[in-house]
Amino acid sequence: MEDLKNQIENLKLNLSNIENKEYQNYFYSLISILDTMNDKLEELTVNQETIEENIKFMDDDLTDIQDELFEEVSIDELNDMEEEYTEVSCCHCGNIIFAEQTTLKNNSEIPCPYCNKNIKA
Ligand SMILES: [Zn+2]
Repeated sequence: MEDLKNQIENLKLNLSNIENKEYQNYFYSLISILDTMNDKLEELTVNQETIEENIKFMDDDLTDIQDELFEEVSIDELNDMEEEYTEVSCCHCGNIIFAEQTTLKNNSEIPCPYCNKNIKA
């Protein structure tokens, strides 16, 4: 990209050194076009760099989100989960039921999913 800019600058310089009245007007407009192209190039380059930077940021964000989503469950968290649930056997049919400890504590009647009777009595 720098090479192209230098080439355009050189061409501009060469054109402005030509002292032929007949062509000078053409050269002036040619120089003006080259200037505009140069500016546009500069603008595009900056835009592209900004886009590349934004994509990099988005990529980093995505990596963070992925890390959070697929973070492995720690042993402590597993223990917590185990503590919340407990195994009870129905006193009528003897089937094993997993129930939350708070549910067991707060309810005197819990219907058995197998025999529909109260597992606690
Ligand atoms: Zn039962």
